[in-house]
Amino acid sequence: IVFNALLARLEAAFGELRRFTADASHELRTPLTVIRSVGEVALREPHSETEYRDIIGTMLEEVDRLTLLTTLLLELTRAEGGQTAMKCEAIDLSELVRDAAGFLGVLAEEERVRIDLDLLTTVVPVTGDWMMLRQAIVNLLDNAIKHSPPGATVTLASQARGEQMEISVSDQGEGIPAEQLPHVFDRFYRVDAARSRQDGSVRGGFGLGLAIARWAVEAHGGHIAAESTPGKGSVFRIALPR
Ligand code: ADP
Repeated sequence: IVFNALLARLEAAFGELRRFTADASHELRTPLTVIRSVGEVALREPHSETEYRDIIGTMLEEVDRLTLLTTLLLELTRAEGGQTAMKCEAIDLSELVRDAAGFLGVLAEEERVRIDLDLLTTVVPVTGDWMMLRQAIVNLLDNAIKHSPPGATVTLASQARGEQMEISVSDQGEGIPAEQLPHVFDRFYRVDAARSRQDGSVRGGFGLGLAIARWAVEAHGGHIAAESTPGKGSVFRIALPR
């Protein structure tokens, strides 16, 4: 029984690795194809200087996407291989949430989305790595803003629940269909791939944001979960041990 269980675990791990490699290659191929075809079309006939500038600009945009994707992949691979040195500092979660909200304040303003803070006033510190946890909250907040209609409100709340501290990010966006919800934390998973790629997210819309958030939270012994009502909005909750 032990041997079978071991084989099953190995099989699952290999399967995961295969999927990851296939997904990563697929994501890398798209910008490469664009660079290649833009170059080929440009070489077919002579162009004006302005046109050449446009062409080079398009190619550079795709190079930027490639750079961003490889950076994210490297970070994720290092992190999951346990090669990231995690700091162990006392963190005031309300302060952390304020920091993340400040960071994305301009983006929210541009999208005409209001950020409401509903934070604990007493300081209950958790132990962890500020930058890692901040990244998790920034990713959730970035998603919430991206998926909110203009004029909507995103609420960031922190509260104490028994032995755990909880941070929630609620939005009034389009929500996530129930059948897709269990997959949103998977690497490269996108609810609507076509739309994600177009929306010009700072993180590229690769379907990696929630995977990174989950890794950061779980590395702290915490838990991340999502609830959603299509048409009404979504709530993402991070629970961390005190
Ligand atoms: P991305 O970087 O492409 O946004 P994520 O891992 O952050 O990838 O999210 C995965 C998918 O979950 C996205 O395709 C997005 O459509 C969906 N999603 C994430 N957060 C929300 C939200 N607050 N409201 C609706 N859909 C969301």
